Amino acid sequence: MRFIRFYDRKESIIKTGWIHDQWVGEIQGDMFTEYRRLEAKTPLENVKLLAPVKPGKIVGIGWNYVDHAKELDRPLPEVPTVFLKPPSAVIGSGDGIVLPPVSAQVEHEGELAVVIGRLAKNVLPETAKTYIFGYTIGNDITARDLQRKDDTWARAKGFDTFCPLGPWIETEFEPSDAMLSCSVNSSIRQMASTRDMIFPVTSIIAYVSSIMTLEPGDVILTGTPAGTSKLEIGNSIEVSIDGIGRLVNPVVSYQTE
Ligand code: MG
Repeated sequence: MRFIRFYDRKESIIKTGWIHDQWVGEIQGDMFTEYRRLEAKTPLENVKLLAPVKPGKIVGIGWNYVDHAKELDRPLPEVPTVFLKPPSAVIGSGDGIVLPPVSAQVEHEGELAVVIGRLAKNVLPETAKTYIFGYTIGNDITARDLQRKDDTWARAKGFDTFCPLGPWIETEFEPSDAMLSCSVNSSIRQMASTRDMIFPVTSIIAYVSSIMTLEPGDVILTGTPAGTSKLEIGNSIEVSIDGIGRLVNPVVSYQTE
């Protein structure tokens, strides 16, 4: 099933829902615990899709594809490299990625995103799957020059709009061998299978949950393959994962108030 968050233009409120083909239905209750699914009778074009979840935290994994670690001249990691992105960075599909003037090299990183479904603490890889609610697509936007300059990645990965998520959460997805690609203005820059991950989803959940308790709605970005490249104003960035869908975002200029 595909879960969404959307803005109901008629009633001017944000709702949780589900989507089937081009039809949207409302969900009453909490999608992580108890909910009721209403009939999908609103045409998709009548709603604005938002990021499908409002995460309490976003955990990023660095260097999780061999070829990306190599292109950045990194040794292969022995344990997952963990960082955090702020929830304030989240935007939905269709929203603009803003280039901050302080960086001269902002890059896309198309990634598989895991949405946690229930409290996970010190979880074993063998049972990790049972803590997953579903999957969505993420773009771990990174100011590469600031990442090299700073001792931590909080700034390089933390700007507003640096975490596009969407378009929905797919609960039926199988993450062991899915094609992921990222294109800029329809020209392919990144393409790999999730089977090329150094640490699979279950190991990542086990490792992260040994550090911090994962809560329903938390998102884990599982790393990006090779081919990240610099964004320019006016670009359209599309990340697609077979079995989930497409996350598309334009790149826009910074505006002062
Ligand atoms: Mg990344």
